Amino acid sequence: MSQDILKQIGRTPLVRLGRIGNDLPREIWVKCEHLNPGGSIKDRIALAIVDDAEARGILRPGMTLIEATAGNTGVGLALVAAARGYGLVCVMPEKMSFDKRSALATLGAKVIITPNAPPSSNDNFRNVAQRLSRENGWFLADQFRNPANVRIHEETTAEEIIDQTGGSIGAFVAGAGTGGTISGVGRRLKAYRKDITVILADPVGSALADWIETGTPGPDGSYAVEGIGAAEPPANLHRDVIDGVERISDDESFEMARRLIREEGLLAGGSSGTNVAAAIRVAARGQVDGPIVTILPDGWDRYRSRPWLQV
Ligand code: PMP
Repeated sequence: MSQDILKQIGRTPLVRLGRIGNDLPREIWVKCEHLNPGGSIKDRIALAIVDDAEARGILRPGMTLIEATAGNTGVGLALVAAARGYGLVCVMPEKMSFDKRSALATLGAKVIITPNAPPSSNDNFRNVAQRLSRENGWFLADQFRNPANVRIHEETTAEEIIDQTGGSIGAFVAGAGTGGTISGVGRRLKAYRKDITVILADPVGSALADWIETGTPGPDGSYAVEGIGAAEPPANLHRDVIDGVERISDDESFEMARRLIREEGLLAGGSSGTNVAAAIRVAARGQVDGPIVTILPDGWDRYRSRPWLQV
């Protein structure tokens, strides 16, 4: 018996791909973060950020939370807000799926949609969330900067991966939205064994891959995969823990997400396809010592209305 649903966040299964990439010199293992109670890896950081703010006394009973979110952090925060009695406002760019918007509204969050505006614009979703937080005295979860995001991945996601692989992991591959997953997991894995390779899976059109390689962000392009990539590097993306990048197109991401669903029974979302497509390239090179571990950040239910999931 569990005291509440929040206790069920984390400790997700690590599953070996049985069919996809089974001819490659290295195995691919996927961490099933879509099996968290809120359906994504973001449940971990939602709980960690709220726990941290409560402990520091800056979040008090009856207050309202606000966050700039691609949707998944919003769902995670909605679970925590429901269990702990907070209000929730989510600010989302219009690019994000109808499925996520309606899930948040059904969960009782107030949803504000912003144009897909660049970071320099007042209408950018992060700037809108910051302004509303200031004007209304709402607690900004601030996932792009809050160190509790990176920390929870060091303390939980990475520890689980070390445990579940018996320490044998050769490389870790993940995309970056806030950078919390790759920075936290990567840092802890490298502290455990410094020869573990950490690779960023970045959508073609994101500026992050160039930034990792050269220190200067690439051009700001458009792409359809949700939750990863950015025009500017977020504070929680730590360049020093990343050894290389793989650039993945929308077509490759969505094709791989469909294959995960149909060939493996892994009911994953679009960025899972990006991660696995990148993991396959790393596995094919066969240069690392041990299996390639990657993440399925969320599930197909967030994208049911999207063209790439239609038959
Ligand atoms: N995939 C999806 C679908 C996401 O929503 C997110 C979070 N924005 C990520 C991947 C990336 O995770 P992180 O923020 O830890 O970099």
